[in-house]
Amino acid sequence: MRTKEQFMKDLNKMYNNIYYDGERIDRLDEQQIPCINTIGMTFDLVEEYADLMLVKSHLTGETINRFTHIHQNTDDLHKKQDMTRKLCQRVGGCIQRCMGCDGTNAVYNVSYEADKLNKGETNYHGNFKKWLERFQKEDLIAACAQTDVKGDRIKRPADQEDPDMYVRVVERKKDGIIVSGCKVHISEASVSDEILVVPTRALRPEDKDYAVAFALPADHKDVKQVVTIHNFRKRDYFKRGFMPGATDSYIIFDNVFVPWERVFLCGEYQHAGVLALLFALFHRHSYSGCKPAIGDLVVGTAALAAEYNNIHRTPHVRHKLAELIMVSELGYAAGYTASDLGKPEVYIPGVGFVPYGPGSFIPNSIYCNVGRCISGENVFREAEIITDISGGIPATFPHEKDFVNPEIKDYLYKYITRNPNISPENAAQFWRFVGDMYCSATGGILLYGNYHGGGSPIMESIAITTQYDIESKKKLVKDIAGIDDKLNKT
Ligand SMILES: Cc1cc2nc3c(=O)[nH]c(=O)nc-3n(C[C@H](O)[C@H](O)[C@H](O)COP(=O)(O)OP(=O)(O)OC[C@H]3O[C@@H](n4cnc5c(N)ncnc54)[C@H](O)[C@@H]3O)c2cc1C
Repeated sequence: MRTKEQFMKDLNKMYNNIYYDGERIDRLDEQQIPCINTIGMTFDLVEEYADLMLVKSHLTGETINRFTHIHQNTDDLHKKQDMTRKLCQRVGGCIQRCMGCDGTNAVYNVSYEADKLNKGETNYHGNFKKWLERFQKEDLIAACAQTDVKGDRIKRPADQEDPDMYVRVVERKKDGIIVSGCKVHISEASVSDEILVVPTRALRPEDKDYAVAFALPADHKDVKQVVTIHNFRKRDYFKRGFMPGATDSYIIFDNVFVPWERVFLCGEYQHAGVLALLFALFHRHSYSGCKPAIGDLVVGTAALAAEYNNIHRTPHVRHKLAELIMVSELGYAAGYTASDLGKPEVYIPGVGFVPYGPGSFIPNSIYCNVGRCISGENVFREAEIITDISGGIPATFPHEKDFVNPEIKDYLYKYITRNPNISPENAAQFWRFVGDMYCSATGGILLYGNYHGGGSPIMESIAITTQYDIESKKKLVKDIAGIDDKLNKT
């Protein structure tokens, strides 16, 4: 398995296809380092969390990092959720490696079913397993590129005026395919080894050229990445305990060749929707680990803000803390149940659960979606509670150099003191942290990511209402109320 140092050495060898703020930058550019440090914890913490992070590959029997694993049973699903919560707690937010894990679990199942549909004429699953073996052995990181630019939202892929609004197959050749299009908001692609591309939505027969899944090296010379980098304000004097960072890329494919051995779906529109849903499903399961970790930070922040403001004994604070804890732990409980009810089956509306894939475990869809939706919809409510309890202090907090300027620093420490039991230095450090999280450009981006990442709440509402057996609930009420359907006209 790799160490963080080996990971950085590998990044240093990659072809420079990253564009940032008007120029091309190296992968080890100073701006990327906080993000590398964050994802680097998935290598650094392997020993400490060995019981959660180390697992035997079902392909080779070798010990691998769980982020490269295909879930084989419900215990794997539980451990994935708990590993995610622990690691996210340590970096103070997204650990940034689950997209590849979620994408590989989805493609593993769908490539198998697509081969079945083609009665053995394709070898997507064999190709994918070969790719996966290297992925596991070399402990690689993959970004999962699902979200297309989508152009006119009301039009389906084949109906768009510009055919490149969704990534598509332009040409099929003897040795591979040519693809075009652009995936957006793709997290951590600028520090990944591989990019795993999957469709974004269900497709019709006329959309079949958009039913495509493949993997390319993230530094492929014909692929351009335009990255946005989300770092907090640099600290020179008052360092944070951990300084995280994140990146998101537009990934542009302009007639890029993909060899067949890296193609895992090509034209099987019947499975595009399942692949889109399965990546989303595995990713929503990951949210049941990361969002509770972010919830842990939110609860801690709210409790400290109350304490540092010396209002922690007031009833309205207690009520708000309870609300934050409820949302966070409900999200975890939903994920726990989704793990426990996991099985090698998917839910097809109108049909029910059907066996799917070669036997790897898929978390329960209703509970994944319920958990992610509750967590996502509460992101801004959580920010509202922190804002309420904090008051205005993090929004206008003086910059750190003012706290080392001998002319004013004593005034500042005197005037930020609210609770006599808290040292002014610690109070200052705390309000800087709250400012990072809620009053900075990066803090705003994090809120957007926590709300939309894994699918906007509307996507979860659609999944929940199309998969939940609402008819049986209506019947319950009819039976108890004494309603006779035969009396109705239809
Ligand atoms: C920080 C961040 C990180 C992310 N990381 C990744 C990643 O690593 N990989 C990845 O693949 N994606 C990633 N995403 C993308 C994320 O999954 C999408 O943002 C999300 O699915 C919403 O899609 P969208 O941004 O295109 O919004 P839109 O789909 O444009 O949504 C905007 C609004 O339009 C509505 N709408 C859209 N289509 C229709 C329609 N046909 N009819 C009616 N209303 C409609 C929506 O309900 C919503 O209210 C990330 C996003 C963020 C913000």
